[in-house]
Amino acid sequence: MVIAIVGANWGDEGKGKMSDILSKDANVVVRYQGGANAGHTIVNEYGKTALHLLPSGIFRENVINVIGQGVAFDIKAFFSELDEIKSKGMKNPNIVVSDRVQILMPYHIKLDELEEERLGKASFGSTKSGIAPFYSDKYAKIGIQVSEIYDDEYIKNRLTNILTAKNKSIAALYGEDKQINIEEMYEYLIKFRDKLKPYLCNTVKLLNDKIKNNETIILEGQLGTLRDLDNGIYPFTTSSSPLAGFGTVGAGIPPYEIKKIYAITKAYSSCVGAGAFTTEMFGEEAKTLRDIAGEYGAKTGRPRRVGWFDAVATRYGCMVQGATDVVMSLVDVLGYLDKIPVCTAYEIDGKIIKDFPTTMELNKAKPIYEYLEGWKCDISNIKKYEDLPENAKKYIEFIEKEIGYPITMIGNGPKREDIIIR
Ligand code: GDP
Repeated sequence: MVIAIVGANWGDEGKGKMSDILSKDANVVVRYQGGANAGHTIVNEYGKTALHLLPSGIFRENVINVIGQGVAFDIKAFFSELDEIKSKGMKNPNIVVSDRVQILMPYHIKLDELEEERLGKASFGSTKSGIAPFYSDKYAKIGIQVSEIYDDEYIKNRLTNILTAKNKSIAALYGEDKQINIEEMYEYLIKFRDKLKPYLCNTVKLLNDKIKNNETIILEGQLGTLRDLDNGIYPFTTSSSPLAGFGTVGAGIPPYEIKKIYAITKAYSSCVGAGAFTTEMFGEEAKTLRDIAGEYGAKTGRPRRVGWFDAVATRYGCMVQGATDVVMSLVDVLGYLDKIPVCTAYEIDGKIIKDFPTTMELNKAKPIYEYLEGWKCDISNIKKYEDLPENAKKYIEFIEKEIGYPITMIGNGPKREDIIIR
């Protein structure tokens, strides 16, 4: 059975914790898109770890972790994360990398930085991990597939062709001094290739064999629906598809094998980077929530934007993911509030809208709130749904009705065991 764990919103919904919990009974955990640009934070017996590129099953010896061909594979980030995991006591992390994965090169990172700088105020708030230049190259068919780096002549020629053209545009846009040294890039690949070889594997075959064997595979999405290149808040999206459905491409899994899709949503909203964020709060109100919830980026440490729960965006987020289950995380965080606003509709040009609009419309949207009573207590030690305070249950059930998808799990703390199954 294939299970997808994906974000219903802007990312950082708590997917890492869910993958960590569900991987207990899984055979494989797969990353199938994105790169080392975001982060899952996992709290377990090895302490608190921010994973950027490695799948969340990395802490379980019984689990094979797969980096699929849809991932933006930063070799350097891969090895430094592996070293970090090993230094925490995980002796032999069980991980393989698709032999079709493409390599995120140092020049992708550099180009990301240069472009954000050039854009200035109009920048996208990129994490500058090279993701947009990487996927641009992939779609333009000037990416580097890992299988290519083991043929010296081939890779030299390819780098020369790709980088000669790239250097022309770099010189024109950013200046001669920013050009990429082709020889250095060749050396970079050579440096890592032997070390990488033992990890490479025909992961499509591996995964399809596991499916035939009735094993359990978790597809682990990065970011969330609203960052999807086609269905999100374009152009304030990422450059890949964080949808469960993309697992069929980024991991090579048949679409009909994805039987469960857990869409994760927070009990409030958070967002990193630029773009419309309709329920955003500011000032002291935002700071209080940010500090209580620890809403600072796992990758960059920058303060995340925070807002009230947005049922319009989440309904859409669950629909596009094809959610079979919704997990509402971080409910414990809201225990300090007297009243909790929930956005149930948008007002755009005087009209009430319930369906999530295009970005141009979204830019004009004003939130319409309903106010629910807070529960004013700590719920972090509660294990059963029926033991939750009445107002917490009312909050969850109100949102469930608004979004139209079943909330089957509730997160009430950062640790593995802080989960209530309904
Ligand atoms: P991801 O990228 O979707 O995995 O999300 P992040 O890991 O960036 O952000 C989620 C943050 O919330 C992490 O710091 C988690 O440890 C934490 N977290 C996850 N679930 C819960 C929860 O139910 N309650 C609390 N208080 N923290 C949680």
